[in-house]
Amino acid sequence: MLRAVLGRLCSRAKQAPLGIQIGRFSAAAIPAPIQRPDVQYTQLFINNEFQDAASKKTFPTINPSTGEVICHVAEADKADVDKAVKAARQAFKLGSPWRTMDASQRGVLLHRLADLIERDRTTLATLETLDNGKPYAISYTVDLDLAVKVLRYYAGWADKCHGKTIPADGDYFTYTRHEPVGVCAQIIPWNFPLLMLAWKFGPALATGNVVVMKVAEQTPLTALHVASLVKEAGFPPGVVNIIPGMGPTAGAALASHMDVDKVAFTGSTEVGRLIQQAAGQSNLKKVTLELGGKSPNIIFSDADLDYAVEQAHFALFFNQGQCCCAGSRTYVQEDIYNKFVEKSVHRAKNRIVGNPFDFKTEQGPQVDEEQFKKILGYIKTGKQEGAKLLCGGNPAADRGYFIQPTVFGDVSDNMTIATEEIFGPVMQILKFKTIEDVIERANHSMYGLAAAVFTKDLDKANYVSHSLQAGTVWVNCYDVFNAQAPFGGYKASGIGRELGEYGLEAYTEVKNVTIKVPKKNS
Ligand code: ADP
Repeated sequence: MLRAVLGRLCSRAKQAPLGIQIGRFSAAAIPAPIQRPDVQYTQLFINNEFQDAASKKTFPTINPSTGEVICHVAEADKADVDKAVKAARQAFKLGSPWRTMDASQRGVLLHRLADLIERDRTTLATLETLDNGKPYAISYTVDLDLAVKVLRYYAGWADKCHGKTIPADGDYFTYTRHEPVGVCAQIIPWNFPLLMLAWKFGPALATGNVVVMKVAEQTPLTALHVASLVKEAGFPPGVVNIIPGMGPTAGAALASHMDVDKVAFTGSTEVGRLIQQAAGQSNLKKVTLELGGKSPNIIFSDADLDYAVEQAHFALFFNQGQCCCAGSRTYVQEDIYNKFVEKSVHRAKNRIVGNPFDFKTEQGPQVDEEQFKKILGYIKTGKQEGAKLLCGGNPAADRGYFIQPTVFGDVSDNMTIATEEIFGPVMQILKFKTIEDVIERANHSMYGLAAAVFTKDLDKANYVSHSLQAGTVWVNCYDVFNAQAPFGGYKASGIGRELGEYGLEAYTEVKNVTIKVPKKNS
């Protein structure tokens, strides 16, 4: 679904934009973004109330297209984290409105939240593009579409997440209950702000948990708008708390908090390690992590060449290259290597970079100056280590954080650009000879988030997809995400799974209740 949406957008965006189909939308049906949006919500959301930080501190959120300040947002730190956790704990108390609410009613509330997000879709898509820089057409269709679907999917689970009766030995009636874990800290990144919120809220709230979410400091605006919708939908106070703030202060305070029962984190592997350490050193709260990747995308010589070129382009460049699952090691079989490289360079040169509010734009700015500089640093390293720069390599505008679509050929496995996550529009193409060779090389990575294989040979596709160490393997497609199917990483790419039925596991404690049954009723 997502791929269908994105693939079409990528391949046709250069043609008459008003004629394109973006999923179930035609571009003509996408409403114009809001001009000069008035940002209404800039404070912390605790106990269903917007409020300043205890310190009264604020921080600027920046428009990456211009480098200008959009507005200032309240900055939570430890005191606010304590307050939010307290509110959440109160909402989770036995006998509270939330704990006594029918499971089906939790589903109703999640559906209402999804309805309200749909109602405010244009506002949310505009804010997302303003704050993050991703093309508005993508925000409106892809991000908003999947966010709503994920909330609705988990709304359906609210009254279906049940335990079992168990045929235990002896005279006992044994059954399990799936109970909520409790106060869940959720720390999310900036690359899909609204979508990551939905991925985290959906399973947590469906199963009856309470949430304190720390949104990324680069992109707080859509989550704060959603906070107002949480209240409007009718969630009891304290069930959902949203606090913008910095990682080392607010984020770290959540990860090490003694009264938080679980932390769910999406972000870099480096910070993932800190979160797990903090959890271990504090109260051994449960930890789920969705971390970095360096995903292999394997193109065999029997693949449909033009299709594979377009998909490999999409796999890497989608979302300005800012995807944890980006196909950032493109392995191409030697007999099609030259042709593939030539076509990939041509495609990258034709990628439309510019104002993300323009419907023709395929690529907006990187999220901030730090990422922009980091990516340019990787490009420099790639050249120094002997990779062949085939196009791009420079900033793409004289203001904002735009980078030219960049392609490197002659990349070898040990180069920095082939081992580290660049998180930008920089493609690495590597040559391989045999199937065994490429499997070994693809698996030779600390990461294991995603992988893809392009071939018309079903046996080859099955053999490779079963051999790869990755939480997701796409065959003849890329970035296909569904609310129903799990996502997560092997190795240093994470712990646990999100989405689908598997995504519920992290948010439930399984309780075994065993009751003595008398042999006869005397
Ligand atoms: P990136 O490097 O792509 O910005 P990060 O992993 O640094 O990704 O950030 C992802 C999320 O983790 C953000 O919400 C950020 O504020 C938060 N974060 C960063 N450092 C820490 C930390 N030490 N403890 C907890 N959260 C953190």
